[in-house]
Amino acid sequence: MDTLNRATSRPAPVSPASVFRPEILGWKAYHVADSTGMVKLDAMENPYTLPDALRQELGRALADAAIHRYPDPSPQGLKDLLRDRLDLPRDMEILLGNGSDEIIQLLCLAVARPGAVAMGVEPSFVMYRVSAATAGLRYEGVPLRSDFSIDEDALMDAIDRHRPALLFLACPNNPTGNLFDPALVRRVIARAPGLVVIDEAYHAFAGMTYLPELASAPNVLVMRTLSKLGLAGLRLGFVVGRREWLGELDKLRMPYNVNVLTQIAAGVALRHLEVLTDQAGAIVAERAPMMAALARHPGVEVFPSNANFVTFRVPDGPAAFAAIKARGVLIKNLHGAHPLLVNCLRVTVGTPQENRTFLEALTAALEPRNG
Ligand code: PMP
Repeated sequence: MDTLNRATSRPAPVSPASVFRPEILGWKAYHVADSTGMVKLDAMENPYTLPDALRQELGRALADAAIHRYPDPSPQGLKDLLRDRLDLPRDMEILLGNGSDEIIQLLCLAVARPGAVAMGVEPSFVMYRVSAATAGLRYEGVPLRSDFSIDEDALMDAIDRHRPALLFLACPNNPTGNLFDPALVRRVIARAPGLVVIDEAYHAFAGMTYLPELASAPNVLVMRTLSKLGLAGLRLGFVVGRREWLGELDKLRMPYNVNVLTQIAAGVALRHLEVLTDQAGAIVAERAPMMAALARHPGVEVFPSNANFVTFRVPDGPAAFAAIKARGVLIKNLHGAHPLLVNCLRVTVGTPQENRTFLEALTAALEPRNG
């Protein structure tokens, strides 16, 4: 009877608006610019490919992958290799993610109790805010100073007022490139009533780490990724910290979040880590000349960088971005992303040739008649 009634009555047609969380309908999907045929300096990738011998070794290892089986759900061998090769503390746990993006999402999901707050500085990595929204978590962004350093009074005040369950600090910060004062970061860790996640995505270019804090501060996790080191396509990120935290986060993780090809390829690459660290060294060596060349342009303000990219301000950011793009070089237009980023652009440090091409395009873009 019930079935018959349902079949004959005419309910309103089902649609995303009738079943999805209403806020989702107002969001925009994460946008990735089309870079076909361009010099690609927009996404902090390592511009170098692997040497031939290593590519051969990778090919052989991947040929043996058991892709008819599910991957190891928690690959201890890969974690041990990460620990050994990247000097991670022996007494801490490691949790792997499908990129550190996934770990950010897990953290947001974990703390999303009713009324809970996640916090970060602004501008910073956009996925903190995006993942907080995904988890239905309120996000409080505390503006940096105009030189992109932390405004200590403002941040401490916001911490005391909002009592964030989760606080993200990217060290170095994206999209600004700078490291924050470590003494200040330690004071923030001491003041925070919740978890503080130090995001070391750009560690390979920074020459410093907060890993030692894990021993003394019970509310700290350190997050890393292999993406910037030259393996962005693999999608492997991880978080290091105490078992009491990572054991709980592990319950939220999809069982097979790191696929078998990634596990194998990351293993091969980590066994030859010196190839990647040499490449990172080449990028760091190119950074200072790139910053100096930028600073020689009248009207260009260059911000200090400890990462594999440089953020700079020009008189007209959107126009310069478009003119550089018209010359076949894709960088990132930060203008409009945050008031502190007015007329700012961000360029990834590439190969010497890519950097020259970019600098020529910038010079042409800043000529008065093209500006
Ligand atoms: N953290 C920061 C600060 C980043 O800039 C990025 C990538 N742009 C990520 C995390 C995400 O990295 P992954 O590729 O590991 O998801």
